[in-house]
Amino acid sequence: MRLRVLGCSGGIGGQHNRTTSFLVDHDVLVDAGTGVGDLSLAELTLIDHIFVTHSHLDHVNSIAFFLDSVGALRPKAVTVYATAATIETLKKHLFNWDIWPDFTQIPTPENPWLRYQEVEVGAVINLGARRITVLPAVHTVPAVGYLLDSGKGSLVFTGDTGPNDALWSIVNAVDNLKFIIIETAFSDKDRWLAELSKHLCPAMLGEELAKLARPAEIYVTHLKPSEIELTMQEIEELPGGSPPRLLQNNHVFEF
Ligand SMILES: [Zn+2]
Ligand SMILES: [Zn+2]
Repeated sequence: MRLRVLGCSGGIGGQHNRTTSFLVDHDVLVDAGTGVGDLSLAELTLIDHIFVTHSHLDHVNSIAFFLDSVGALRPKAVTVYATAATIETLKKHLFNWDIWPDFTQIPTPENPWLRYQEVEVGAVINLGARRITVLPAVHTVPAVGYLLDSGKGSLVFTGDTGPNDALWSIVNAVDNLKFIIIETAFSDKDRWLAELSKHLCPAMLGEELAKLARPAEIYVTHLKPSEIELTMQEIEELPGGSPPRLLQNNHVFEF
């Protein structure tokens, strides 16, 4: 599998700050934040599957524009995979005809541009030889992460999450684990805010990574654009060996 980072920032602004989205091979998105807007129409047209971690706008806003741009160019519906709670929120608060049209009814309910598929933690979705497992996350709204397994190697994306013991017992059992993308949304001075909004700061990241019992290359995502230097400095000062690296836009993982 090949994962390209389209967005990995906690905000927008400047040349490289896009909100969360990853392109997997040519046909799968994991989250659909503002980074999706950098894809060409041809690339957008090829996307058949969108795996959503949770309903927050920085992870879903581009689903709306994606459908408007290429819905009519595609031969079939795009499938949005999310938990029942997330789907409910998308239907009620985004694709509700007030904020944006309900694309499960467009152009016709029988042959729409969008269909939802409910998933729950522990579910495995097979796309050919690719295995996508839904991971637990702990956030202010119902949320999940995803484990992508090509058969040769695996990548874990935590999604937005606070401290998450259930995640590590699963990750520690992944024999072919290669990469972890984990959020660190706040710097340590805002630990109170990280705790309140169920995100991580560097000190909490250190506590989480202490629960990881196998080797992996670790990348941090979702940093505030204005606090990248401060947050990375705090991460580099964490006790232990090689600190996690900052995930960069357009980074490519092969596994
Ligand atoms: Zn969130
Ligand atoms: Zn977020």
